[in-house]
Amino acid sequence: MATIAFDIPEDLQQIARAVEAFCRAEVIARHEKYHDLLNDPRNTYRRDGRLTDAAIEQIRAVRQASAKQGFFNVSVPESLGGAGLGMIAYYTLIEQVYRLCGPHNWLCDFVISHWAFGPSAVLTTITDEARERVLPDMMAGRSMLCFGMSEPGAGSDAAMLQTRAVKTDKGWKISGRKIWTTHIPIADYVIVFAQTDPERAAQKKGGISAFLVPTSTPGIQVESIIRMHGHIGGYEGITVFDEVEVEPWQLVGTLHDGFKIGLLGVSMGRIYNSARAVGLARWALEMAIDYAQQRQAFGNPISEYQGVSFPLANAATEVHAAHLMGLNVALLLDRGERAVKELSMAKAYSVQVAARAVDQAIQTHGAMGFTNELGLHEAYARVRQANVADGTNEILARTIAQRLFKGDVEL
Ligand SMILES: Cc1cc2nc3c(=O)[nH]c(=O)nc-3n(C[C@H](O)[C@H](O)[C@H](O)COP(=O)(O)OP(=O)(O)OC[C@H]3O[C@@H](n4cnc5c(N)ncnc54)[C@H](O)[C@@H]3O)c2cc1C
Repeated sequence: MATIAFDIPEDLQQIARAVEAFCRAEVIARHEKYHDLLNDPRNTYRRDGRLTDAAIEQIRAVRQASAKQGFFNVSVPESLGGAGLGMIAYYTLIEQVYRLCGPHNWLCDFVISHWAFGPSAVLTTITDEARERVLPDMMAGRSMLCFGMSEPGAGSDAAMLQTRAVKTDKGWKISGRKIWTTHIPIADYVIVFAQTDPERAAQKKGGISAFLVPTSTPGIQVESIIRMHGHIGGYEGITVFDEVEVEPWQLVGTLHDGFKIGLLGVSMGRIYNSARAVGLARWALEMAIDYAQQRQAFGNPISEYQGVSFPLANAATEVHAAHLMGLNVALLLDRGERAVKELSMAKAYSVQVAARAVDQAIQTHGAMGFTNELGLHEAYARVRQANVADGTNEILARTIAQRLFKGDVEL
């Protein structure tokens, strides 16, 4: 029963089956075994909102096990030691992982390397010395990365960032404040964006550079964890950089041209979010379809009522369209096309339809839909956040419109 005419190559199907087995053994089984630690927030987080050491240990174990079996770096370029399977593999596997694991088996976040948390094409732009120092541990899942671009006064308009890297005899000294940096409290390295030429930066003509910095460097302090959606802990942090010394080996990409690195990463983030949104939406819809056939009201299963079944049919149609868009843009990227318009469309559409689909799954479950036990609220929180992270829906609409008015009208 094929739904998608595009044939996933046999070797990728094999990897997908192996990743599924891995998720069952290393993610779902861990959540069952360590349920109190991983699924009771009172044990997952400390009072200050950071993950507990025991929870961090589980994250590390999943990363390392996945790296050992060759899944973690599946889409990392071969030049870095990855499998180099590209974006179609990335999309297919991320989508599958979330459809299988849902939001509550959250260790699945660490099965496939996310560009901001681990190895990716972004690391092709680090220096040879940085490769020697950083890459082996990161490829093996022993160390973790994070990405410090956003600041209190610089979100969508990232060029407003105020963090400065002042030239010294040995390199630069970085000072400033970063916000929303996912995993900064537990990461070993952060890629920090800072002004290296304030004049050019003020004119929005470059002048911003990226640096790879160990989070243990003196002068870096994670001030606080940002809690969201009523959670008692979280992953995102606010960090102060106070005259943090960096040397030339830590420069990422070209001096004054750091935004290219940001764009490269964010493009992968858009594929990732498209796939994760579709995966979580399918997880939620499948639950809702099942529940609607079992739940009785007024003498019938509620699936018999068009008030229940038609919204699910609409949600499924939208998710199917998002799935096709995601696969299509992954193929375009693997062909070497930039596909700026298509990537923006796929990400913005996928996260919006996923939020609608999960919301509909909650509605189908009645009061059950709000329970912690089902985890639908958590799926909703995750896909809702993706409507802002890695390019808000509005910024993506702006990009699509810019492309259209430049004559890129192929649809
Ligand atoms: C879960 C999560 C994780 C994140 N992780 C990271 C991370 O690891 N590293 C990092 O650097 N950042 C991270 N971010 C920050 C993220 O990149 C920003 O939230 C995003 O760039 C938007 O910036 P903002 O939140 O400041 O919103 P703003 O830029 O202040 O936007 C506010 C609203 O105005 C709209 N808007 C802005 N400009 C326009 C315009 N020209 N036209 C129309 N509408 C406009 C936006 O779409 C939005 O709706 C994360 C965010 C989230 C939610």
